[in-house]
Amino acid sequence: MSTDANEHLNDWLRDAHAMEKQAHTMLDSLASRLEHYPDLRSYLTQHREATHGQRDQLEACLKRRGSSVSALKDIGARLAAFGQELSGMLVSDEVVKGAMSCYVFKQMEIASYTVLVAAADAAGDQETKTVCAQILQQERQMAAWLLEHLPAITTAFLARAATPGAKAKV
Ligand code: MG
Repeated sequence: MSTDANEHLNDWLRDAHAMEKQAHTMLDSLASRLEHYPDLRSYLTQHREATHGQRDQLEACLKRRGSSVSALKDIGARLAAFGQELSGMLVSDEVVKGAMSCYVFKQMEIASYTVLVAAADAAGDQETKTVCAQILQQERQMAAWLLEHLPAITTAFLARAATPGAKAKV
């Protein structure tokens, strides 16, 4: 078990923790504003709660690994900046771009947990590997749901946009 692998794993777990906090903010921001897309709203709300669970699981991994909780404050600024960019799209734009942004963010989460599974394996931390593999599966399901529903969201948006007096954006 190499020290370097353990240090990298801790860093990446902290980055993922910051990413989940950002994901929660994004999902909350979009879900709370959606008025005319109940399926998407309900799915986002459901996943927003799952995101809290993921964040707690990451915290538990870090604590078990002896990483100090105060280190959690050293947030991965890169991920936060990327997330803020996407959040900006959510605030300023309509449901289609919001759903697209969520999908893109999910891909970053999928990449992150794929890295974490390999890193936990390399560090010999089977429990963290199992946790990250479970979260990875959740992220894949969420990404698949979004991709599958993007056409219907787009069609619904276009239909509302073409209807006089109907509010289409969210
Ligand atoms: Mg997540």
